[in-house]
Amino acid sequence: MFKDDCIFCKIIKGEIPSTKVYEDEDILAFKDINPVAPVHVLVIPKEHIKDTNEIVEENIKYIDHIFKNIGKIAKAAGVYESGYRLICNCGEDAGQQVKHLHFHIIGGKVLGPKVL
Ligand code: AMP
Ligand code: ZN
Repeated sequence: MFKDDCIFCKIIKGEIPSTKVYEDEDILAFKDINPVAPVHVLVIPKEHIKDTNEIVEENIKYIDHIFKNIGKIAKAAGVYESGYRLICNCGEDAGQQVKHLHFHIIGGKVLGPKVL
């Protein structure tokens, strides 16, 4: 379920601190440590899924749950009305740094065409 050397698994377990925005039994949303905009929140499943290539029937409930709650999380982050960009990097060419599936919610200002 968790991976010992994964920093996001450690955040879920409370071994690394984070500023939580939303949490329930399946997902966690917390502030990005290096924000690229006034609002930059990461949403992660509470199971170690490496990237979008590892989404399968057995773990789809986490993805389903993230998208069912994305509006609620955006509201908690303060960008529900103003809008936001949702980004998910997968693999080398996308520059995925943390190999635990996560969605970036970015907003709090008018965003340019640059994606991240
Ligand atoms: P990605 O490039 O899509 O893998 O994004 C990884 C994100 O995780 C980056 O925006 C980092 O700033 C962020 N990050 C890395 N470590 C932490 C941490 N301990 N707490 C919060 N955000 C983090
Ligand atoms: Zn992990």
